[in-house]
Amino acid sequence: MMMPHVDDPQLLAFMFGCTVLVIACPCALGLATPTAVMVGGGVGAAHGILIKGGDVLERAASARTVCFDKTGTLTTGRLTVAKVMVWAPDVTEAELICAVGSAERGSEHPIAKAVLNHALLLNVETVEPVDFVASAGQGLQCVVLGRTVLLGNRSWMLENGLELSSEQERQVAELESTGHTLVLAALELAPAAGKDATPSKLVLAGALAVADSLKPDAYAVIRQLRSQGIEVWMISGDNERTAVHVAAEAGLSSAFVVAGVKPDGKLAKVQELRDAGRKIAFVGDGVNDAPALAAADVGIAVGSGT
Ligand code: ADP
Ligand code: MG
Repeated sequence: MMMPHVDDPQLLAFMFGCTVLVIACPCALGLATPTAVMVGGGVGAAHGILIKGGDVLERAASARTVCFDKTGTLTTGRLTVAKVMVWAPDVTEAELICAVGSAERGSEHPIAKAVLNHALLLNVETVEPVDFVASAGQGLQCVVLGRTVLLGNRSWMLENGLELSSEQERQVAELESTGHTLVLAALELAPAAGKDATPSKLVLAGALAVADSLKPDAYAVIRQLRSQGIEVWMISGDNERTAVHVAAEAGLSSAFVVAGVKPDGKLAKVQELRDAGRKIAFVGDGVNDAPALAAADVGIAVGSGT
């Protein structure tokens, strides 16, 4: 066998050693890699981590950019309702909670659980919604007790022709800039009685401010990744103000935050980063980010991932 010229005697000895090993027991070496992958997979599984195969591990090692989803990924996703605002004069807080809670019974979003817990806490009964339609990354629409209910963020309301007044906008912005997610609620008020009554329209009846907290290790994980020269992004469906506040807590500057995007927007950002020639890992909880998880070089689904 030809040996390249090596000056360092230790390196030369090591290379001779390797050569002898390869000749003496090629099968053992051939088995070493799959064995290591299998053992790694087993240890991962014992820690609740399912790894799809050795190629995934290899790609994960070459990832130079890691994109995180916010809710349920960097944050615990165990949300609580911090504040309820009622804007419609003829709607009580209990009525608002009943409508919002009932509507959320059809949703699997972490926000839904928070709202239902809050209804339970206040002893407000909820009912099963009908004609439920979810708009991924925006909100939902359904009918509760014969009336249409629309829940979600600003863009979802705007799409349905509902705009916040300047006073409502002020209240909402204040809560968003301290990291709350706002659930805006539009209700169809009861149609006026009588045969000439016009069908009633949707009004912005109130909003619930939902609070989430950063996972205890989020800050350290991001710092560790960045110290390895890995670029870290946060890509969220939540609004800019809330996203930037949470990112700052996690040690990320607003330059690395993409907010207010729907699932296709998350996918577009992942593709944009890949097109720039970087290997991408996307970490998400699978709620509204499945396309981005699938499009990244490595998709990492966390928690109760779908
Ligand atoms: P993230 O990317 O932070 O996980 P999502 O993409 O899941 O956020 O959702 C984006 C936004 O859409 C939420 O911040 C919320 O305003 C709105 N939204 C989505 N689903 C619901 C729901 N079931 N109830 C109320 N609001 C919702
Ligand atoms: Mg999410």
